[in-house]
Amino acid sequence: MSEVSTIKITKTTKSRLSETDLKNVPFGKIFTDHMLVADFVNGAWQEPEILPYQPLSFDPSLSAIHYGQSIFEGIKAYHNVRNETVIFRPYDNFARFNQSAVRMQMPEVPEEIFIEGMKELINLDKAWIPGYDNHALYIRPFMFSTDTFIGVRPSSTYKFMIILAPTGPYYSKPVRIAVEEKYTRAAPGGVGQAKNAGNYGASLKPTSDAQAQGYDQILWTDAFEHKWLQEVGTMNVFFVLKDKVLTPSLEEGTILDGVTRRSAVVVLREMGLNVEERKVSIDELIDEYKKGNFLEAFGTGTAATISPIKELAYKDEHLVFDLEKSSQTSIELGKRLSDIRLGIVEDVHGWIEKI
Ligand SMILES: *Cc1c(COP(=O)(O)O)cnc(C)c1O
Repeated sequence: MSEVSTIKITKTTKSRLSETDLKNVPFGKIFTDHMLVADFVNGAWQEPEILPYQPLSFDPSLSAIHYGQSIFEGIKAYHNVRNETVIFRPYDNFARFNQSAVRMQMPEVPEEIFIEGMKELINLDKAWIPGYDNHALYIRPFMFSTDTFIGVRPSSTYKFMIILAPTGPYYSKPVRIAVEEKYTRAAPGGVGQAKNAGNYGASLKPTSDAQAQGYDQILWTDAFEHKWLQEVGTMNVFFVLKDKVLTPSLEEGTILDGVTRRSAVVVLREMGLNVEERKVSIDELIDEYKKGNFLEAFGTGTAATISPIKELAYKDEHLVFDLEKSSQTSIELGKRLSDIRLGIVEDVHGWIEKI
């Protein structure tokens, strides 16, 4: 970064980097040496600080724990082929973070803290970005309420933080998916389009139930008829038919507006495919499958990028995909996204932010 930083930095006196095997890091368990912290008090954001990564201590009445004003983001940074450090579409995550904040009655975080703080933190810990194929630095910005008061009301104080986790190739083995007919992830007017912590807590039991039946994940359906498809686990979902690619549209507010989803829609169109963002029902897919027109299905998200689906189960129907034969679309999409991130092709969309 060229500008002189205004962020106060306290460096660690004992880096853990030399004792970390960056080639074999498990996802989400190892964090870099530093973290960014900014507090919202008296109606204003205070100066952010970068500190050694360390535990927080707080009062048992911390409101976030009781009433769940807690939101997060997930972003990745890479070393590209020219050995530059780049972040993929961080402004999209920044905008979405503040949309989540508004929905959860939390203060919006300014760009100087979210984006500049993120760059500063990554710059300080960039030696932690693994220099191996398909590795990345996972960036986790989050915010939670910090009033020490157990009454239900919006907190007046908040903490915004960013932590960083080196990650290896997130190989997603093809998954078996159960179409969910009982539980609901999101309903119109709810919080499905916000990345708030409670959504994930609520998804754990339905997912465990499906896993007990031998599936890996669930395909969420609408709250009323349980037939309009929403998302697969915590990923957006795409269905490749012979003459088009379908992905559920966002207008009901029940679907998280994924940055990978957005990018996939653009890249699939560049591949010459006809992408339709609209309501998609399980009945339509079963129908197309029986006609031999339904070729591939996959999830998209920052952590795994693309996760191929090998089976969709709904009542007595099992739509099985032979991924050896038919996964050209997801493989080509994954390659194109990777080429953009790594600077192998030109970034014509302005998705890459250099540090
Ligand atoms: C984060 C998330 C996604 C994927 O969003 P990306 O920006 O692509 O990582 C999809 N669905 C849910 C529920 C999510 O939380």
